[in-house]
Amino acid sequence: MKLLENKVAIITGASRGIGRGIALKFAQEGANIAFTYLSSVEKGLALQKELESYGIKAKGYQSDAADFKAADDLVTAVVAEFGTVDILVNNAGITRDTLLMRMSEQQWDEVMNANLKSVFNLTKAVQKPMLKQRKGSIINMSSVVGVKGNPGQANYAASKAGIIGFTKSVALELGSRNIRSNAIAPGFIETEMTGALDEKTVQGWRDAIPLKRGGTAEDVANVTAFLASDNSAYVTGQVINVCGGMLT
Ligand code: NAP
Repeated sequence: MKLLENKVAIITGASRGIGRGIALKFAQEGANIAFTYLSSVEKGLALQKELESYGIKAKGYQSDAADFKAADDLVTAVVAEFGTVDILVNNAGITRDTLLMRMSEQQWDEVMNANLKSVFNLTKAVQKPMLKQRKGSIINMSSVVGVKGNPGQANYAASKAGIIGFTKSVALELGSRNIRSNAIAPGFIETEMTGALDEKTVQGWRDAIPLKRGGTAEDVANVTAFLASDNSAYVTGQVINVCGGMLT
């Protein structure tokens, strides 16, 4: 029996990067997957096909996680299509990096809405089906930056720290209903995005990490699969750093 056999998962922001890695891992572990993206329609369609090749049910939805009504409509559509929701992975996120001196109200609001309000939107929407079945696992993608802060990322770090407070509060509120809520704090994960950075800078980052390499989407996906599965049945309200020892 595979780790996530017959479970239904919603993964936000899976068209690329870490979300895509999580979707592929979940498919290998037998989950049926509803995933979202914001604008990458072609990548979404390609991912749906790739996931289906693992013999599971998969469907991509173009849905803005920052939009309260869209999130609620998404969950209604997923329940109609898949029957229920067992796992929610709030992965969608953006950066609008700049020093506080130059940070606009718009850059603040965009990051808070895409990274933090989205987590509220989706979690609130999945509460109903999860309460009904008295079971569920919610996994929120925070960041080591949310734990320790980072210059040039005041908006991003605040959104990721907010996710941690939200995660723990939901764990306390819904624990008695067997609904678990945990966060993952990735360190430096090498995705397409970081592939565009200067190689010398990136090598400097790698050298400063105890495990001497950047993380992969698969590294994060493996921990996400554990938190989604019944193997973590007694784990809730926790933040797991996936950072190669960077935050130690
Ligand atoms: P990425 O490559 O930029 O991918 C972001 C994904 O989120 C894309 O699929 C994007 O869809 C989607 N998305 C963005 N805004 C959305 C919205 N409003 N509604 C729905 N989907 C939305 O990012 P990543 O590096 O994989 O990061 C994934 C998560 O891990 C983020 O929360 C990020 O903050 C966190 N994280 C990343 C790192 C790292 O080093 N990479 C470290 C710590 C934490 P489109 O393709 O349609 O735009």
